[in-house]
Amino acid sequence: MRIQDIGEFQLIDRIRKLFDMEMPSGVVGIGDDCAVVPREVVDREILITSDLLVEGTHFRLETTSPEDLGYKTLAVNVSDVAAMGGRPQFAFLSLVLPPNLEWDWIESFLKGFRAMGMDSGVSLLGGDTTRGQNVVMNVTLIGSGPRRLIKRRSEAKPGDIVAVTGPLGDSAGGLLLLSETARGKNSIEEGELIRRHQRPRPHMQEGLWLGRQNEIHAMMDVSDGIGSDLMRLSDQSGVGFQIHLETLPSSVELVTVATSRSWDLNDLMVNGGEDYVLLLTVDPDKFERLTDGFLAEFGRPLTAIGTATAERGELKFFRAGVPVGVLGQGFDHFGARPKP
Ligand code: ADP
Ligand code: MG
Repeated sequence: MRIQDIGEFQLIDRIRKLFDMEMPSGVVGIGDDCAVVPREVVDREILITSDLLVEGTHFRLETTSPEDLGYKTLAVNVSDVAAMGGRPQFAFLSLVLPPNLEWDWIESFLKGFRAMGMDSGVSLLGGDTTRGQNVVMNVTLIGSGPRRLIKRRSEAKPGDIVAVTGPLGDSAGGLLLLSETARGKNSIEEGELIRRHQRPRPHMQEGLWLGRQNEIHAMMDVSDGIGSDLMRLSDQSGVGFQIHLETLPSSVELVTVATSRSWDLNDLMVNGGEDYVLLLTVDPDKFERLTDGFLAEFGRPLTAIGTATAERGELKFFRAGVPVGVLGQGFDHFGARPKP
């Protein structure tokens, strides 16, 4: 069945039914002119993030699994809220749909979106739906975080230890595998990298925990690759960074696949994007205590990867103490490269 056979009202009704779950008390979702969210009485700030996905630019109908796309669409927004130390709560989803699009496609997309919503405790409260030539999706996600503890990009200080909450490069490895023209059967490790690319796990619990720790100065999520994301931290905070390549955390799967395919591991870990781990800078005197606490909570340590310096815009990489060049580019929608 196609969208044109269903009509707007029926379509919205189907969306409402798919997301008909228990709501936090006092919340009014899909169906009225506006959603209603009771004011929180506690000492919290509201966090709001929004993302656009355009068919042809971000995904292709022929090659993308709609369920994975729905999952990832919400996951990347959850990651943005986690990156500020907040809890994601309410989503709005606006859709532009071509009338001849199959309902099955959009239903799978919505089911993926719903799965991430259930994983992260997010309720869909509304949106808008209209026809158009290409599929376009907009997600707005609202969350909240403890006042005065919201983690910004602008608070890194010279001398801070830079750390990440998980391995780098997996998603880029998965993407490389997916873009191979002659695709044979993938090994278990390869399948795992592909899965991490298609269904990234936002570090929400980690973000919530880290958000409560005073000794963290700046935090962001790794969406474009640390080469590019560190430049953004640097711009916002007015610091530089020295990063030690041998300390970058990689997964067993990535090392196995990169070795068998002769991939440049450092390039993937520095310039690959979409890992959605958290990148943070920490008061150096308190790092050890912080990583012990993190280990106790999550069963793995934070990984220190370098330090912040007083030199704004400096981004230097070292291997075993020796400065090395890494082709930094990250991903930029308009093709620009970050400053060298
Ligand atoms: P309005 O004319 O006021 O924009 P609509 O008919 O567009 O109202 O929407 C009716 C209800 O359905 C609203 O509560 C709106 O938030 C919700 N809604 C519309 N499109 C979507 C969507 N794609 N996802 C979730 N809720 C939606
Ligand atoms: Mg409307």
